[in-house]
Amino acid sequence: MRKTRFLAGASIIAAGLLALTACNSGTPGAEGGSEGGSGDAPVYGAVASDVTIENSPTFDKIQSAGKIVVGVKEDQPGLGYLDPVTGERKGFDVDTARWIAASLGFDPADESKVEYKAIASANREQALINGDIDYYVGTYSITDKRKEQISFAGPYFLTGQGLLVAADDDTITGKDSLTAETTVCSVTGSTPIQRIREQTPAQVVEFDTYSQCVEKLKNGEVDAVTTDEAILLGYAAQDPDNLKIAGEPFSEERYGVGIAKGDTAFQEFVNTMFTDGGDTWQAIFEKNLGASGVSGEQPTVDPVS
Ligand code: GLU
Repeated sequence: MRKTRFLAGASIIAAGLLALTACNSGTPGAEGGSEGGSGDAPVYGAVASDVTIENSPTFDKIQSAGKIVVGVKEDQPGLGYLDPVTGERKGFDVDTARWIAASLGFDPADESKVEYKAIASANREQALINGDIDYYVGTYSITDKRKEQISFAGPYFLTGQGLLVAADDDTITGKDSLTAETTVCSVTGSTPIQRIREQTPAQVVEFDTYSQCVEKLKNGEVDAVTTDEAILLGYAAQDPDNLKIAGEPFSEERYGVGIAKGDTAFQEFVNTMFTDGGDTWQAIFEKNLGASGVSGEQPTVDPVS
């Protein structure tokens, strides 16, 4: 394991992060008030009216509750993020969740109509099975194993597994450079933790969230963090002096919207939204990830996701 290379004390790091967070709220990605706060039209489009979906248990539940509960991440900048300063939720996944809500006829700007629950990677299937959330949008890879318990709409985004390392690290250059001496952090119940265990000799440390792993990397307690490159780019952008991506992506992760198993009517509704959504996907991408360096091409929906 590499020794601590970040000489700054924790408080200085924390202050730096706060400053970066404050800076970030001035980036193009944060403009336009995702909930229409600045007066611009919301990026997710208009709130639909008179929506009906036949034979959808999810839609029936939402209708009788009079609100939607969405599962999200809240520590992944650019994707699913709760701004600790403003209290605003933002990111590509959050705006995609809002787009779905608006298409279902629920106004995302109205807190009594759309509620968010942060659910860690390991707890997503169970949250959907329990009905704690109506759908989940948060870097959720479509896999056959997960499809045994839940269903997916999408894919709506493609990325691949990568490695985040210290900016001054020139020993880790990609997956094949990991050795039995390398300590890699990832998240319980995620696809990347499984792949890093199967495909490399590295020692693996696990936490509930990627932000915990990033803290360990900054402290020098681990040598790398592994997860989807789209997630890692968000952390690197927050702290480019200390963090960088090493090497090329080594998997294909297809993000889907997690839904209750077998609710094909709801699945078709969301898939149609993605397919016939005009420029909305692109607008959501540009706003949140346009400057991040990830590919901005919308994937084709797979009806059997
Ligand atoms: N996309 C991967 C997964 O679903 C990693 C990101 C995450 O844990 O949300 O497991």
